[in-house]
Amino acid sequence: MNRPFNNFTDELRQRLSIVDVISRRVPLVKKGQNFWGCCPFHNEKTPSFSVSEDKGFYHCFGCGEHGDIISFTMKSENVDFKTAIRELADMAGLKMPDYKPRDAAEIAREESYIKITDDAATLFQKKLFEDTGKHALEYIKKRGFTDDMIKKYRIGYAPKNNIISGTFTNVKQDMLISTGLVRHGDYGLYDFFRDKLMFPIFNAHGQIVAFSGRSLDGSEPKYINTTDTELFHKRQTIFGFNFARESIHRANRSIVVEGQIDAIQMQCHGFPETVAPLGTALTEDHIAILCKANRNITFCFDGDAAGQKAAVRACGIILPFLRDNSDVRFAFVTGGKDPDEVLKTGGVDAMKKIIDSSVGIIDFMWNTTNNNYLVSTPGGRSQAEKYLKSQIEKIVDVDFRREIENEYDSRKFNQWHKWNKNKNTGPDIELPRVDEITKNTLVYIVNRFPSVVEQYGEFLSTLNIDFDAPVVVELNFDSKSAEKYIVSLKLQRYIEQLNNEKKYIIQMGFSGDASAAEQLKEIDKQLQSAKENLEKLMDME
Ligand SMILES: [Zn+2]
Repeated sequence: MNRPFNNFTDELRQRLSIVDVISRRVPLVKKGQNFWGCCPFHNEKTPSFSVSEDKGFYHCFGCGEHGDIISFTMKSENVDFKTAIRELADMAGLKMPDYKPRDAAEIAREESYIKITDDAATLFQKKLFEDTGKHALEYIKKRGFTDDMIKKYRIGYAPKNNIISGTFTNVKQDMLISTGLVRHGDYGLYDFFRDKLMFPIFNAHGQIVAFSGRSLDGSEPKYINTTDTELFHKRQTIFGFNFARESIHRANRSIVVEGQIDAIQMQCHGFPETVAPLGTALTEDHIAILCKANRNITFCFDGDAAGQKAAVRACGIILPFLRDNSDVRFAFVTGGKDPDEVLKTGGVDAMKKIIDSSVGIIDFMWNTTNNNYLVSTPGGRSQAEKYLKSQIEKIVDVDFRREIENEYDSRKFNQWHKWNKNKNTGPDIELPRVDEITKNTLVYIVNRFPSVVEQYGEFLSTLNIDFDAPVVVELNFDSKSAEKYIVSLKLQRYIEQLNNEKKYIIQMGFSGDASAAEQLKEIDKQLQSAKENLEKLMDME
């Protein structure tokens, strides 16, 4: 029978890029969709050995050799299957499992597992449409699910009683327990999911391997998932992937949202290429699997602080998978909504707008750096540089990494050291633009505290900020702290301005000039008093 499960060799194929594996022995150059090099299996001077990253295969047009990472390792190093696997496991940083061929008993066990979970899903769905599941059906309909959607995703209801342990009486206990659907208690078997709206979790081949149950009585946690079993590994399972795979190929990208319901609603409303991690955090395995399908990924997170954090985390994980032709983007759903709500209130167009306004990974990393470090100060810039460097180092494609370094160098020069460019054009020194966090905070203040704003309108107008932009952060400010924020910003800008003037005078070699010396003294005096004022303000409660 066809092996449907993610066994270790599948995992290796998922984790390792064939280009990385082959590049260790054969220099490859990218041309068009594929990578090319001189075939290691026959003698040649012009490359006819082609490697497809997406498909995970190599093929030689000269001698006809072809295969995947495992056959490549076996043939190129003349080793047996087991040795090749061990070597690749080392490369992937994975622990070698005890290798044994699958026997008939094991295959039968897997088939029996899948039959139980599938039958359970059928039973749960039946219950959803019975009296006992009325509240669950009401809930899911209220969330905008049609009968067709319920059928397609095989959504069901697990009643309050022990329906699984009560129904599957002809199945061996240990088998039933192995699916995670029932557990062993003091009074025999009991069901793990009770009074839950049930979302089956499918493996990449469309077989149900686990369930995610949503509480219906408001109890926390909102979702519980089957704990890991022999056929279900949460860290390696992407919700909706089996449904999205074809569409990811067609759309030439995947969209990653945070929640399962979001993923389903997206799939059913114009974005069939959408998936979600199970639970909250995205893992390296999730990214590896998605990148194998397609290296263009748009992450769509909540616009709040948690969503920003999740995005930064995803960015860190995906960098080693990044290629020069990958398009990785970040979109944020603002206003406390999630994609499900956006689709419901604004429809596909509203969602499309959000996806279209996504930021590419290069800009995202740049913005993150500028938001998290005070780049208007030398210390802040030094920290920012270190952070950027630590991120860029994760990119394995050397040429691509160098290009990104160049790009950031040019941005640093133009945006962080802009005053330096104006050396010969006079003392009309431009201050760096307000960073994203400051901008968002100010937009929030302007919208929430119009009275405070009236007082500082003139200063605010010098910042070149579009105050009609939507409020994207909700902060816990009162009018006093709003005012304090603006005044401290004003003082900081003033100090920056004075420092720049000072630097300008020194750089231009005016410092020997008597009037320049006078001017420097005056600037120092003003600096001193501005700094004192800022300190006083910061100490104020
Ligand atoms: Zn060849």
